[in-house]
Amino acid sequence: MTVAWLGIGANLGDARQTLKDAVVCLAQQHSLTVLAKSSVYRTAPIDADGDDYFNCVVKLDTRLDVRDLLALCQRVEHHFGRERPFRNAPRTLDIDILLFGDAMIDTPDLIVPHPRMTMRAFVLVPAVEIEPGLVIPGYGPANALLPAVADQRIEKVKPPCQCFGAAPAIDGAPDTPTPDGPCP
Ligand code: AMP
Repeated sequence: MTVAWLGIGANLGDARQTLKDAVVCLAQQHSLTVLAKSSVYRTAPIDADGDDYFNCVVKLDTRLDVRDLLALCQRVEHHFGRERPFRNAPRTLDIDILLFGDAMIDTPDLIVPHPRMTMRAFVLVPAVEIEPGLVIPGYGPANALLPAVADQRIEKVKPPCQCFGAAPAIDGAPDTPTPDGPCP
């Protein structure tokens, strides 16, 4: 089993609801257990057009290898209607693998730690909320990176969900995703 961290963002449609549904969808996957979810944050788009984003970070435990986790994230993005018309386009849902254990991966289709996570308040702030002592492989303590992103607008809009933490798994989660069909 590997502890992995995902960054989740949305800025199209009902973005707050999409974030919530995406976390429920992830929690329903047999191949992973959600350990913690940050608060939801409203953030300014960076290098992108469109409305403000809603972002959160999820810490999970998984028996998937990293490429299967990436494939799962992409299936969940697709499930919520993600389209990729151009780079940094507004998106219904974006899921990035931030960390995968201590892995350091640099390949054309997968870079871990995520290459921009150390420069983004919308990743660092929720990640440090979950784990103040988080250390990013190759970069060091996440909280030491916060001063450099202090000029990025970020506002907490929803307190952390209490569903995750003590409970080892989510069976029969109360909410179901809104897209057609069951979670992938
Ligand atoms: P994005 O538009 O941000 O969703 O980027 C998607 C592309 O980034 C996909 O082609 C992935 O293969 C690639 N990618 C590279 N590293 C990562 C990562 N750590 N997490 C998610 N996608 C990644």
